[in-house]
Amino acid sequence: MAILIGAEIYRHSTYGRQHPLRVPRVSTVIDLARALGWLPPDRYRTSPRAKPEALAVWHHSDYLAALQVGEGMEHPTPEMLSRFHLGTLSNPVFPEMFRRPATGAGGMFLAAELVAEGGVVQVPGAGTHHGLPDRANGFCYLNDCVLGMLALRRLGVRRIAYVDIDAHHCDGVQHAFAGDPDALLISTHEEGRWPFTGTLDDDGGGNCLNLPVPRGFNDTEMRAVLEDLILPALQAFRPEAIILQCGADAVEEDPLARLSLSNNAHMEVAAALRPLAPRYIVTGGGGYNPWTVGRCWTAVWSVLSGQEVPEHLPDDAQTILRDLSWRGGARPLPAPHILTTLRDPPREGPVRPVIRERLAVLRGR
Ligand SMILES: [Zn+2]
Repeated sequence: MAILIGAEIYRHSTYGRQHPLRVPRVSTVIDLARALGWLPPDRYRTSPRAKPEALAVWHHSDYLAALQVGEGMEHPTPEMLSRFHLGTLSNPVFPEMFRRPATGAGGMFLAAELVAEGGVVQVPGAGTHHGLPDRANGFCYLNDCVLGMLALRRLGVRRIAYVDIDAHHCDGVQHAFAGDPDALLISTHEEGRWPFTGTLDDDGGGNCLNLPVPRGFNDTEMRAVLEDLILPALQAFRPEAIILQCGADAVEEDPLARLSLSNNAHMEVAAALRPLAPRYIVTGGGGYNPWTVGRCWTAVWSVLSGQEVPEHLPDDAQTILRDLSWRGGARPLPAPHILTTLRDPPREGPVRPVIRERLAVLRGR
């Protein structure tokens, strides 16, 4: 039985009024899933908050101390800014700067325990794939993906596949696991976009498959990537556990990327990976359009928990979507169908030659 791990800290905490992460995300997933009757109490677990000592398996303790001290500050000290990149536009100092990422990490620790003997867990609050051992990076203060993988290792799970369909490259995860023969990393991400790592020829020492994709990446192209690259690589690797970083910023309406997936692509990938390992953890990640990120991860939960997505959402679910806003900024309002449905219209299209060529390069490894 699939379990969803959430927490209430995501409902009201915000990175600040100017930041893309000012919008609610995890709370929308919980509310929608409950409104649809998909999240009875026995399927939901509250994420514990990880303790600094538990985070120190990968993060430096002086950085962890700075995160904790910084929560009470209005402005970072010059040292926090220069050493730990705390207080930048991307990584602002905010009141839950330690507790919120530590809740994501705690969710991954719990997920690792829950799947230790086999199982499926979704942790939409996790997926902070840019985090580095000693500093914040790209909205990520800790790297809960890395911490979750290390937790699985401590539980005796050796061979772990990490698949990342976020619009951005998983530089922090690759930093941790490049060259590890018992870890396979596969990432699709928009080419020419921050953090500019994960180029086609970057194999991370042999265990990393990086596929940069052009603007407008569509559902048909993702299916080609799934069938020609991701599934064969996983079948050959035979992982004991799979982590899917299911960032929602590759969806067409996301303001931070220029890819054109519908949430059907995320559902399809989430479903296809399920039978390939006995242990399966699906995280969140990027996703900055409050409507599409909440719908995407709820739709993924429907796949993991075996629910039928209705053609039209019931009234109370529609109300949840109608009550969302950008919380400032001049962004376009959602199209009408976004407020009344969960599943997007598919965005099929041609598989462009550049995708075929890059897949051939990676298959040739
Ligand atoms: Zn992203």
